[in-house]
Amino acid sequence: MSEFLESVDPSTGAVIGRVPITPTDAIPAIVARAQAAQPAWAELSFEARGAKLAAAVDALLAEADELGTLIAREMGKPVREGIGEVRAALAGVRDTLREIEAALAPEVQETAHTRSTLFRDPYGVAACIAPWNFPLLTAHDQVLPALAAGNAVVFKPSENTPLVGEAYARRLLEHLPEGVFQIVHGAGPVGRALVQSDVDLVVFTGSRETGRSILEEASRSFKRVILELGGKDPMIVLDDADLDAAARFAARSSFRNAGQVCVSTERIFVTNDHHDVFVRKLVEEAEKFRVGPSLEDGVRMGPMVHAQQKAKVEAQVARALEMGAKLEYKSPVTEGNFLGPIVLSNVTHDMEIAREETFGPVACVMRVADEDEAVRAANDTRFGLGAVVFGEPEHARRVARRLTAGMVGINQSVTSAIGTPWVGARESGYGFHSGREGHRQFTQLRVIHEPI
Ligand code: NAD
Repeated sequence: MSEFLESVDPSTGAVIGRVPITPTDAIPAIVARAQAAQPAWAELSFEARGAKLAAAVDALLAEADELGTLIAREMGKPVREGIGEVRAALAGVRDTLREIEAALAPEVQETAHTRSTLFRDPYGVAACIAPWNFPLLTAHDQVLPALAAGNAVVFKPSENTPLVGEAYARRLLEHLPEGVFQIVHGAGPVGRALVQSDVDLVVFTGSRETGRSILEEASRSFKRVILELGGKDPMIVLDDADLDAAARFAARSSFRNAGQVCVSTERIFVTNDHHDVFVRKLVEEAEKFRVGPSLEDGVRMGPMVHAQQKAKVEAQVARALEMGAKLEYKSPVTEGNFLGPIVLSNVTHDMEIAREETFGPVACVMRVADEDEAVRAANDTRFGLGAVVFGEPEHARRVARRLTAGMVGINQSVTSAIGTPWVGARESGYGFHSGREGHRQFTQLRVIHEPI
């Protein structure tokens, strides 16, 4: 008998659908089907593969409003942001495909006596394992480059967003040859079974802890991995920053998607001189956030994805307060899965909230003496996904180059601009996707040498 995953709307607690869990003992046959389908897929010209993928993406874009609404219902972000996620993920697919094609084209290098040709071949079967916070965007960032490069894909959406996974898969299944793309459902055990199966590449976006267990598991058979993991992103507010703009940004970046964003701002460093004014402005911004059900008009923050995530965030805040952090603001909205904006000051490095990923709507302000202390403290983390510096651009650029994060925004958030990688340093990533070098990570490099 099949077991089912129930999909729950975190705004209301209502069950909105269910999907059968893939039995772990069915995974080897699913991977074998992918292996059987992959060579013919790889044999197609890039243009032929790209045309099928673009057609699937067009079909998804045509239902962007429905998909965005489903994202809002299933994981709780405001519906406008759900629709925005779909558009951001899928728009410009033809440009992305052209970029992938150029990145993977054979390259010839010649010396006086030898011609060497570099080929970038698909690995074979890729397992793509996605999180719930951007359930469509993160999945697509894995699946598109894997398929475009000629791999077959077995895709596992998060157990918290199976319906978005199904809706995404439906259009790919319609447009791709049998077996080239398949979907499986379940939580950790299904993901683990997939990693242990005969796949060649594991593409994973999720927490550092799961990433580490995947890395350990994959290492047994030398499987290739691309891991996009969590973060503890710092924001540095320099003395010459526009404090109004910085406070507006800090609120948006700490509270967007109820703080459940891998590159949300989790630590804000402000020097003594500006600290109090900045905190006041940040509280004013936090007060403006309207918190409510994800489908309600004008809502800027929905609920947290589920009760455990809310409890984890509340526990970090409680421990920080016990250790001397100051509660500057707490939204009165706290019923059910809702947890409105929280602003803390006096946060110090010994607190868990300053070191572990929070993934919740908490803006943590940390007072520093000067820019050097801000840089040292910002870099004092095992994570290294994003970072942001606010200040006079030339000055901010100098400070940005001293930060150890993979991506740094100056007077703006980090972004997935076309042509650029989405890359985490340190324990925020192991491999990466997007941009020329990211696309190449979905392929095995081979070289043929011949005499001239
Ligand atoms: P998670 O690690 O709990 O789960 C991610 C996926 O892995 C899910 O599909 C889950 O079922 C699966 N999984 C769980 N255990 C597994 C195992 N042992 N083997 C294989 N698969 C397993 O993460 P989450 O809670 O879904 O997502 C939130 C995390 O994702 C945060 O840490 C966030 O920072 C990170 N994230 C990172 C990026 C990025 O680009 N770096 C983007 C989005 C989210």
